[in-house]
Amino acid sequence: MKAIFTLFLICFLFPAYAQVNMGGGPGPENQSFPCLTPEQRDAIMEELTENRNELIEKGILSANPSPTDDITKLEWPLKQNANFNDYGYHGISNFVDQDFNFPNMIQDYNCGNRTYDNQNGYNHKGTDYYLWPFRWYKMDHDVVEVVAAAPGVIIGKTDGNFDRSCSFNSNQWNAVYVQHADNSVAWYGHLKNGSITSKNIGESVALGEYLGVVGSSGNSTGPHLHLEIYDSANNLIDPYSGACNGLNSESWWNDQRGYYDSGVNAVITQTAAPNFATCPNQEKFFAQTDFQGGETIFLATYYRDQLDTQTSVYTMYKPDGSVWKTWNHNSNATHYSSSYWSWSWVLPFGLDGTWTFEVQYEGEKYSTNFNVGIVQSVGDSDFPSHINIFPNPAKDRLFIRFEEKGYKNIQIILTDLFGKLVHEQEKPNIILNEQIEIPVNNMSAGVYLIQAKLDGEVFRKKVVVE
Ligand SMILES: [Zn+2]
Repeated sequence: MKAIFTLFLICFLFPAYAQVNMGGGPGPENQSFPCLTPEQRDAIMEELTENRNELIEKGILSANPSPTDDITKLEWPLKQNANFNDYGYHGISNFVDQDFNFPNMIQDYNCGNRTYDNQNGYNHKGTDYYLWPFRWYKMDHDVVEVVAAAPGVIIGKTDGNFDRSCSFNSNQWNAVYVQHADNSVAWYGHLKNGSITSKNIGESVALGEYLGVVGSSGNSTGPHLHLEIYDSANNLIDPYSGACNGLNSESWWNDQRGYYDSGVNAVITQTAAPNFATCPNQEKFFAQTDFQGGETIFLATYYRDQLDTQTSVYTMYKPDGSVWKTWNHNSNATHYSSSYWSWSWVLPFGLDGTWTFEVQYEGEKYSTNFNVGIVQSVGDSDFPSHINIFPNPAKDRLFIRFEEKGYKNIQIILTDLFGKLVHEQEKPNIILNEQIEIPVNNMSAGVYLIQAKLDGEVFRKKVVVE
């Protein structure tokens, strides 16, 4: 209710540049299916035992490791590829189910219910880290790597299995199994096909070493890592310590993160609200950093572990550093493991330069920059060739003809190279081969920027008026 009230207030106070849309809610996360069936887990156990025995015979592993009181301490098992720099990239959908009754008798280490079981007696035995936002985009671009949470020896690995699962199936997953110095073992499952480390069984991996890319192989409803840990006696471990962890008392994490690990994963300026698409299709997020006065900008913030008690403060800063707009927002649900909120505004004319959008959330500041009215870098390359703009140069009239398909919503803006609006028109429906006419006879000769927003996607092209 608070969000709707804020929306009303802003529209009322600033009718010239009204916020035109806000939306959001939970992100798509994994559904509760067994990551491994009991038969698959038994087969893995058997294979690992065989591999271990071979490695002991070869003298690579010790049959009787020296007893130690120290448990293996784990570091974070994921890493963002160096080519990407989002604030974050994951959410947690499920912890280990500590209640071994079923069905619907669940309890995580913190006495909450962020886990699952099912009627066949399956209790979730690992922690699921899913990619967020744009999980398929991230998987397709190798954005999130699985790395060794502790050093050790590879005692098993599987690759070559289908990796775009969207539902429960009997597919095998791609995985790496690493045995640590104390004989405890970490299972890293659901990895991307073809991404598994080239190191062989029996070779060592260092702490933080690459093992594969997060994918959706095996029983999976979207790209995520299932991390499952066994101690030296092959007992299941929950690496998180908490009041309801009945498996082990001590945390296996060097630095255990909070039960609610609230943060912002990404702040993105867009030309439309995100489209998460149907599994396993890649999402569209309409990211753009160059805008024109009069254009609608979508400011999207992607959260993990957002709670309704947490207030976000959003601020848009003009090129001179002063505030253009600021507003607050609280989520509408007690807890979202992933969520997003996007706000859109019509950008003003005459305030060209580099703007900043900032989100203050839980004591941290997250921000991104975008340009308004800076057009030097605009080329024709992003304009679809089936949209014909002619004649160029134009004398009296300029035409835009749609030669491949129609569009439901069309917005055309013509500005000079300083971002000053010279022409604007909207059309609700354009059919195939229909054309829009733009009078240019009253414009002074020169170069202009034409910007076409077609069903949410924005294209730009320079045109010359003689
Ligand atoms: Zn899992």
